[in-house]
Amino acid sequence: MFDIAIIGSGPAALSAAVNARQRNKSVCVFGRSLDSSLLFAAEKVDNYLGMPDLSGEEMLNQFYAHAVKRGVEFKESRISQIMPMGDRFMINADNEFFEAKTLILAIGLNKSRGIEGEMEYLGKGVSYCATCDGMLYRNKKVVVVGEHEEGEAEANFLADVCEKVTYVPLYQPVLNLKENVTVLNGKPKSVLGEGIRVTGIQVDDEMVECDGIFFAKNSTPPESLVFGLATDGKNIIVDRSMATNLPGVFAAGDCTGAPFQIAKAVGEGLVAALSAAAYIDANK
Ligand SMILES: Cc1cc2nc3c(=O)[nH]c(=O)nc-3n(C[C@H](O)[C@H](O)[C@H](O)COP(=O)(O)OP(=O)(O)OC[C@H]3O[C@@H](n4cnc5c(N)ncnc54)[C@H](O)[C@@H]3O)c2cc1C
Repeated sequence: MFDIAIIGSGPAALSAAVNARQRNKSVCVFGRSLDSSLLFAAEKVDNYLGMPDLSGEEMLNQFYAHAVKRGVEFKESRISQIMPMGDRFMINADNEFFEAKTLILAIGLNKSRGIEGEMEYLGKGVSYCATCDGMLYRNKKVVVVGEHEEGEAEANFLADVCEKVTYVPLYQPVLNLKENVTVLNGKPKSVLGEGIRVTGIQVDDEMVECDGIFFAKNSTPPESLVFGLATDGKNIIVDRSMATNLPGVFAAGDCTGAPFQIAKAVGEGLVAALSAAAYIDANK
């Protein structure tokens, strides 16, 4: 079990990782490749103290090398769900499971707009993780909305469990679907439900009846990563110690709101790491 699991791989995550190691905590960074950080796209960064004229890519490579030098572990992965388990958290990293005492969410800007009804029915038929929730839909009808090709693996997994799987790809080409998965091309408009259960999804003008809807997204809404996490609708709500509303869960960087700047992300990463370390020491 790790002391601290950090989700994300941008400046906030890497700063948190380096500073958690300074406190002698075991740390694993669960994040997608470095080029998924917003910073990677910056041609030249002029306002980060002491490192003028670097490109975003050069800066990220330096941050990463620093973290590796300090003994930070990395698991390149997309995290779909984290389950609180009493005194620890279970992290689903591309269907490999890891445990940590504390969490630091450094997942960057929330680019997931979501469709009407999506958040309302989260946990009531809407899911972001087939491995976690697929069995709830045994012999039922589900729809998988895939923003990227990993959605195909989710649909294929569900095809072994569910009565009917409809796949709505939001990218092309779709290459690796099982024969019993039906493809529906179109734009998802809204999640439909009655009371506390999903009943279907509107895709363009078509209403598809189903019991569950799985979204495979490029950017995961923070409240769907950890159940019960408080947001203001877009950003994770934190206090000055970067603590969220959930004990043992901290957040840093663009995911906590503006200003969207490297120095702010790095500073918040530091504070989150110190707070997570203090939390672990206080709960020994
Ligand atoms: C073109 C451009 C130029 C910029 N120029 C400047 C500048 O000159 N100066 C400045 O201060 N700022 C600049 N910025 C802003 C700066 O890049 C961001 O403020 C900074 O990258 C925020 O760091 P972060 O770690 O919070 O988020 P990010 O750098 O966005 O990193 C978040 C990481 O989390 C990962 N992630 C998200 N969800 C998951 C998940 N579920 N599982 C695994 N990983 C996940 C993402 O893949 C990403 O790697 C610029 C941004 C852009 C786009």
